[in-house]
Amino acid sequence: MLQAQSIIPVPGAERLLTLLCEHFAEHGEVVSEPGRGRVTFEHGTASLALRDEALHVEVASEDPIHLDYLKIGIAEHLAEFHEGDPLEIVWRGDGLPAGSALPWFRELEVVETQVLTAHMRRVRMRGHDLGHFTQGGHHVYLIFPPQGREPVWPVMGESGLPVWPQGEDALTRRVYTIRRVDPARGELDIDIVVHPGEATPGSDFALKARPGDRVGITGPGGGDVPAGTNFVFLGDDTALPAIARILETLPADARATVIAEVDGPQDEIALASRAALDVRFHHRLGAEPGTFGALPRALRAIDWQTVGADPFVWSGCEFTDFKAIRSHLRGELRWARDRHLAVAYWRRGRPGA
Ligand SMILES: Cc1cc2nc3c(=O)[nH]c(=O)nc-3n(C[C@H](O)[C@H](O)[C@H](O)COP(=O)(O)OP(=O)(O)OC[C@H]3O[C@@H](n4cnc5c(N)ncnc54)[C@H](O)[C@@H]3O)c2cc1C
Repeated sequence: MLQAQSIIPVPGAERLLTLLCEHFAEHGEVVSEPGRGRVTFEHGTASLALRDEALHVEVASEDPIHLDYLKIGIAEHLAEFHEGDPLEIVWRGDGLPAGSALPWFRELEVVETQVLTAHMRRVRMRGHDLGHFTQGGHHVYLIFPPQGREPVWPVMGESGLPVWPQGEDALTRRVYTIRRVDPARGELDIDIVVHPGEATPGSDFALKARPGDRVGITGPGGGDVPAGTNFVFLGDDTALPAIARILETLPADARATVIAEVDGPQDEIALASRAALDVRFHHRLGAEPGTFGALPRALRAIDWQTVGADPFVWSGCEFTDFKAIRSHLRGELRWARDRHLAVAYWRRGRPGA
């Protein structure tokens, strides 16, 4: 078992201990008594105790990456809950020393790009030790270095929080879905929508990437779909990689209705699954993405008798459509929260982060 400890002298340590225990109860099993608490997560534990006006924290995990995730989780939430000057958090014990590369970071090199549809490019990249990206979620940050500069990548800070380069070396990141990862070949594919806009680092990368170009990647996280038999997927172009990947994992006895919004027939992609598929593409035909509303309209028009009993509804799209979809599911249909997942993949007029 790997372990790390930090002693954090802080006025009001008791309040912080209470807030941490309350917060972590949403993510793990908390046992607390006055002056101490212990949280058991899926991949490790955090023990918190008050002693001599200080908060004593010990994190433990079998897995080195999860040990560092626990350190980050503690440091991030202490920073959020603490009022006043930033806390001095220094970890001792196992885990990576300050200045090491983030364990969930890899540098990738572009191998090739392919035109998939009128507005979608596949970027195939190569990297070492990509097994980490096969589980724990579908989504990652792609990290773009400033053009013409040798990349300076983020490193572990002493507090457990990553330290990102600033100034001329500042990096830009955008969220994408891993469409395919093959650790044996050291390859990873991301399918990227190319779209208009003044500063669009993600879209530009897809259009301009050349073999040998370097990018960073961190993650993965999010995107899991619970086991089930009947599914409805709603997504615009940006969600097609996630939908395609999930469909490939569905069993033969599953049924999936896919409602997708793209610009036109030249943007449709072939979707494959062992499950029975009913795929319906809606075309914007030149209307600005994020203004057409085909997905919420199609959701309202669904004949629920045809999609099978107790379906799980998954949706990824622009923010306005996301709001309409979520409010229809929760407000009008009163759909249980564990039977749907609605996520805004991008927001019109705003850069991603
Ligand atoms: C969980 C998750 C998974 C995602 N997976 C994918 C994926 O696999 N493939 C993919 O292409 N995208 C994916 N996205 C969406 C992607 O992160 C955003 O579209 C991102 O904003 C693109 O970055 P950019 O640098 O090209 O544009 P930005 O710099 O972020 O934005 C510049 C301008 O372009 C607009 N814009 C952004 N995206 C679009 C778009 N698709 N169409 C039209 N205008 C747009 C913005 O509103 C803004 O006005 C995902 C997002 C999330 C949250």
